[in-house]
Amino acid sequence: MTRPVRALINTAALRHNLQRAKQAAPGCKVMAVVKANGYGHGLVRVARALQGADAFGVARLGEGIELRDAGFDQPVVLLSGVERAADLAEARGRALDLVVHSEHQLAMLESAPAGPRVRAWLKLDSGMHRLGFPMPSAAACHHRLVSASQAVASVMLITHLADADNPGNARVARQIDAFGDATAGIDAERSVANSGGVLGWPASHADWLRPGIMLYGISPFDIGDGADQGLKPVMTLETRLIAVNRVSKGGRIGYGGTYTCAGDMRVGVAAAGYGDGYPRHAPSGTPVLVDGVRCTLAGRVSMDMITIDLGPLPAAKPGDRVVLWGDGLAAEEIAGCAGTIAYELLCRLPPRVDYVEVRR
Ligand SMILES: *Cc1c(COP(=O)(O)O)cnc(C)c1O
Repeated sequence: MTRPVRALINTAALRHNLQRAKQAAPGCKVMAVVKANGYGHGLVRVARALQGADAFGVARLGEGIELRDAGFDQPVVLLSGVERAADLAEARGRALDLVVHSEHQLAMLESAPAGPRVRAWLKLDSGMHRLGFPMPSAAACHHRLVSASQAVASVMLITHLADADNPGNARVARQIDAFGDATAGIDAERSVANSGGVLGWPASHADWLRPGIMLYGISPFDIGDGADQGLKPVMTLETRLIAVNRVSKGGRIGYGGTYTCAGDMRVGVAAAGYGDGYPRHAPSGTPVLVDGVRCTLAGRVSMDMITIDLGPLPAAKPGDRVVLWGDGLAAEEIAGCAGTIAYELLCRLPPRVDYVEVRR
């Protein structure tokens, strides 16, 4: 069986983008963030291509276990730590690094029995107000973690930027400065920069970078795309035309008839819809590439199909390749049309999409 919708994953582009991160911050160590199934690209596939990273960052215990089961022995950091004693025991057994962001997590480590020791990343809230200890408690929390030596091997410091998608935003500089001030007397490695920090805020580089989205070739900034940042798209989502229809002037296309033909036109039907992860909110006018030529959606996105104005491509025929995003059509642009961000498009691909690894 061949499935019509395929996500081509370009592993050479992954490696290129990792180099781009290293080049932006020479001398820094890189924790490649591969949470949410490698931002939808396949956790193990991505980690294999990114062997050159110094560590991996994941969101869930299960993702860390998957990496260990696949044989990766690099540091793997659980970016929200663990909540339950049983999960702590499992994380220690698997040598997974833990973020520690709450009194509950800190107390759990302090009262943990002797056993395998893990690296702890003390998370401080420098202004995002999501996870982390208040900054005035940095030194005291650091001391408590160092003292929990029956379970903790070493302690690093970590914080997260709320506005790094906007290079001009003064809140970023305030977060970086506040974190620096609060941790000034503490002898520990530090990590601040997500992709936006890596590319836009040298002051955030510190010891460890934590790039996510840029590794997949997507710009972290709210203007422009990955190519503007010297990145290469990793995922190309493609399908085929399965029908080409003539519709007369005044004809209305698809559910709700939201698109009315201004003249006689040729309408292509491509085998991909919101059931394949294509955003249902993409309106008429959203670009798609048919046989490499930029065309546009006409009518609503269905579960298994989209309808396309083939005006720019009179020769289009069933079987033609249709690119929904990726090589030649930035996912950032499609996300913008659909009122979301490329992060969401990428990590929402459902299991019925076929993955194919390519090296170009
Ligand atoms: C997801 C995440 C990152 C990576 O962010 P990008 O914007 O994708 O680069 C870094 N740090 C933490 C704590 C994260 O949760």
